[in-house]
Amino acid sequence: MPTLPIYMDNNSTTRVDPRVLEAMLPFFTEHYGNAASRTHAFGWKAEEAVDLAREQVASLLAADPREIVFTSGATESNNLAIKGVAAMYRASGNHIITVQTEHKAVLDPCKRLEREGCAVTYLPVDRFGQVTPQQVADALTPRTILVSVMAANNEIGTLQPVAAIGRLCKERGVLFHTDAAQAFGKLPLDVQDIKADLVSISAHKMYGPKGVGALYVRRRQPHVRLEPLIDGGGHERGMRSGTLPVPSIVGFGAACTLCHKELAHESARLTDMRQRLLLGLQDRLDAVFLNGHPTERLPGNLNMSFAYVQGEALMMAMRNVAISSGSACTSASVEPSYVLRACGVPDDLAHASIRFGLGRFNTDDEVDFVVGEVVRTVERLRSLSPDHALARQARSGLQHSPLSQ
Ligand SMILES: *Cc1c(COP(=O)(O)O)cnc(C)c1O
Repeated sequence: MPTLPIYMDNNSTTRVDPRVLEAMLPFFTEHYGNAASRTHAFGWKAEEAVDLAREQVASLLAADPREIVFTSGATESNNLAIKGVAAMYRASGNHIITVQTEHKAVLDPCKRLEREGCAVTYLPVDRFGQVTPQQVADALTPRTILVSVMAANNEIGTLQPVAAIGRLCKERGVLFHTDAAQAFGKLPLDVQDIKADLVSISAHKMYGPKGVGALYVRRRQPHVRLEPLIDGGGHERGMRSGTLPVPSIVGFGAACTLCHKELAHESARLTDMRQRLLLGLQDRLDAVFLNGHPTERLPGNLNMSFAYVQGEALMMAMRNVAISSGSACTSASVEPSYVLRACGVPDDLAHASIRFGLGRFNTDDEVDFVVGEVVRTVERLRSLSPDHALARQARSGLQHSPLSQ
């Protein structure tokens, strides 16, 4: 019997790995200097630790450490990338291309820019949540300055063809940004391979602390320039002023090194666990549907709809299992998920969806327990659902009808 409650919401946030915490602690206690203090050993020690973390983060992207700008997380990184490009490149154009299923931290900055006179194209997706490079190519205009397509979706786990889109953008001389908050640390991500100019990442999605992230900003071919959001002491080469949160940055770096070392093994293990969860549910329940792409998805993400059951009710009925219905980031609203809607999932099935986010600390025992809980709860809720009773009657009617044999 696993320890309860079980955490299976790793697309919302992850536990800080104990090894990450260990690396951070001395920077709260003994080494509390300001990394910008050049006049004493406290400052030098902090600066040295930030330099190392910058190398660790850059290494997981195959980037140069000088291309890493530390921020408060992927929300800020997305804002800096999108608003920073729009302001700096205004003379070259005002058109941005993005996708309907992006995180709000991309969509909302785009909406604000529209109010300020930019034109934004929101590309639709197929039923798996993917866009094609051709869609991007067709949307490009001489006024396009930026294409922003996420590496992996936070709700349905779908991976986008970012390498092909990046190559296309390079050929057309348009900057390419990717929100990689979900993919970073889980899947190989090389800025040379995907030809990205800007990449948003976040520590708390990959076993680091909350409140720290980074924006990768390409330095060569092209040298990307950004209008900063925050002015101040000129930290981070003027792109993001503010005293660096040294313990958090140290933790971010340590988290990157662990993900780097464990990536191949961990992604295989999570894919196996995800299959165990999927097959367990499919074997024991009828009318369950997978949302997102069957194979091109994050190793740990499983999003499913349980027909005749409200995802919200299912989630609330399972007090021992921490999961999400729809996206955690829109859970304040009762609207069906805009991501599922964009994939063409009907509203009733969108309302019946649950997101399972498997992570480093989940076990097969936990998966088996969750399968049992979900099956029991779905069966109980369905037994109370008049729609389900009707559908069952209709089905059994069909089975007994001579016409169907
Ligand atoms: C979590 C997440 C964000 C926001 O990151 P924070 O570091 O929490 O600001 C942005 N985009 C995606 C895809 C995410 O999953």
